Amino acid sequence: MQGAYPRLSDAQVAALTALGERRAAQPEEVLFREGQRNGDFFVVLTGNVAVVEARGTPEERTIAVHGRHRFLGELSLLTGEASYFTAVAVDAGEVLAVPVERLRELVVRDPGLGDLILRAYLVRRSILIGLGVGLRIVGSRYSPDARRLRDFAARNRLPYRWLDLEADPGAETLLQHFGVAPEDTPIVIAADRLLRNPSNAELAAAIGLPAPGAPHTSCDLLVVGSGPAGLSAAVYGASEGMQTVVLDSTATGGQAATSSRIENYLGFPSGISGAELADRAVIQARKRRQHRAGQDLQTHRRRDEGRAQRGMGAHVPPLPAADLAIRLEDVRRP
Ligand SMILES: Cc1cc2nc3c(=O)[nH]c(=O)nc-3n(C[C@H](O)[C@H](O)[C@H](O)COP(=O)(O)OP(=O)(O)OC[C@H]3O[C@@H](n4cnc5c(N)ncnc54)[C@H](O)[C@@H]3O)c2cc1C
Repeated sequence: MQGAYPRLSDAQVAALTALGERRAAQPEEVLFREGQRNGDFFVVLTGNVAVVEARGTPEERTIAVHGRHRFLGELSLLTGEASYFTAVAVDAGEVLAVPVERLRELVVRDPGLGDLILRAYLVRRSILIGLGVGLRIVGSRYSPDARRLRDFAARNRLPYRWLDLEADPGAETLLQHFGVAPEDTPIVIAADRLLRNPSNAELAAAIGLPAPGAPHTSCDLLVVGSGPAGLSAAVYGASEGMQTVVLDSTATGGQAATSSRIENYLGFPSGISGAELADRAVIQARKRRQHRAGQDLQTHRRRDEGRAQRGMGAHVPPLPAADLAIRLEDVRRP
């Protein structure tokens, strides 16, 4: 798919090098593992790195091999989800490791590079979904809970594979492997974790989606529903520096995220898939928060410089005003 595996230019690698660390990679060295959260952003400088699902198991399969100036990862690196694959060096080489927080700052400062990475990550997510890489949901096609879990995964645009007890011989083998009786299904396998009929909130927490947490006691703007209307409100709120909380009972993106192609949204003359629109909106809302936070800190720095010149000493800047939290939470819950 176009844009999934771009090669960075020398100038782009130089910009990233200033934020990260070059280091040698040995053959078979694992750069990050399936199930790991908040790993570094890696660029391959020399040598090759393979991206592998279910490494070390009979189901192991290679999804891609990245060479010089290609970068690793997919959408989960930006959303905070656990990785759906392992990255392992194929041969001796050198990689650049950039802490993900610094990457997020760069993406705000450099829209060209930011859009290149975001586009690649969105397309890679579609590839993973198409390949059925990621979570495995095992259960009966007649089970309402199995349907609920599949709906949850689909609406949150999570890559997953459905193993139907009635039709897929692999389902029985997997249940025997984990010692689970058919009547104890559905189960979800996330990396090496087994979840027995998890609630949506339990599944969200296990994979690093923003599950319900401690209730916010106060905020400037509370948005209920993260469809296009709610996410638009969040972008404006975070842009204005408001403490913004967005709650959704199921998934970000609302109805729009379920549309295969939206043709009539302003600014997308050739149309856009609902999933991409939703993922872009979520990242835009988070980006506005960081942009605003960066502006607030710069304002404080400028004020401090002025005070220092006048011999008044510097202030410790308070926490940036802008903040945004997106959580999966049903407001009807007691
Ligand atoms: C298959 C499909 C194709 C479409 N194609 C197009 C198109 O091509 N062009 C177009 O213009 N429109 C299209 N639409 C319509 C478009 O998606 C909607 O108009 C748009 O999504 C409405 O946005 P919204 O934010 O107002 O509400 P919604 O998208 O409905 O979002 C509401 C959100 O609120 C959440 N929510 C509801 N109750 C609670 C609660 N109690 N607690 C917490 N959260 C809650 C829901 O989970 C949901 O995520 C399509 C819709 C569908 C289903």
